[in-house]
Amino acid sequence: MALIVQKYGGTSVGSLDRIRNVANRIKRLRDEGNQVVAVVSAMGGVTDKLIAMANDLNDEPAERELDVLLSTGEQQSIALVSMALHELGIEAVSVTGRQAGIKTTGSHTRGKIDAIDPSLMRQYIDDDKVVICAGFQGLREDGMIHTLGRGGSDLSAIAVAASLNADVCQILTDVDGVYTCDPRVVKDARKMPEVSYDEMLEMASSGTKVMQSRSVEFAKKYGVIFEVRSSLNDNPGTIVTEEHDNM
Ligand code: ASP
Ligand code: MG
Repeated sequence: MALIVQKYGGTSVGSLDRIRNVANRIKRLRDEGNQVVAVVSAMGGVTDKLIAMANDLNDEPAERELDVLLSTGEQQSIALVSMALHELGIEAVSVTGRQAGIKTTGSHTRGKIDAIDPSLMRQYIDDDKVVICAGFQGLREDGMIHTLGRGGSDLSAIAVAASLNADVCQILTDVDGVYTCDPRVVKDARKMPEVSYDEMLEMASSGTKVMQSRSVEFAKKYGVIFEVRSSLNDNPGTIVTEEHDNM
């Protein structure tokens, strides 16, 4: 039995059908006997829409209030994914950043993860429940709701995987791995079975961006090996790790 931490981005939970798809994927892992913690983003477009509303009302929206507002996007998706799982007969519980014990520091809208106290998540896992954790958010030392910067759910997932000492960490997205160039742009892009953290960071800076650089740096620092793969098919993805020998 493995403990699998997965991250589903905005596209992967972008509609109710996509959320049903996520629930089915999680159910499959459960049926195979695994424990699952899924970190989810806001439904695609929701964060942008919330930012647009804030900017419409105020030329310089208060960053404290932006954090309160933007964190609601992920809170919607964790509840919806949990409900979709209940419909399939799977016991799932949602946790916000605070409930997940994600402790942050730094200024509003640009939080950094300082530490995670995963005891509540651990308790749910021990009770054999699937945990659906809000990405992109945590609780600052002073008790404020805090978000982690755009794309921050990647960081949440890597940090949660590290804190739970997960057997597997999968970043599920709309491409099925890391390519030599962007497959959405270049047709004969080649998927790499494995890349190193440093190569992944180089690619992010050269524009082939699959995930937030900060998250890759965090994974490197804490030695979290993860896989980037598609939420829409079962193709093996790309393993991101310290060393590799296939390039
Ligand atoms: N929902 C947030 C964003 O759009 C965080 C994330 O998706 O990773 O930036
Ligand atoms: Mg993203």
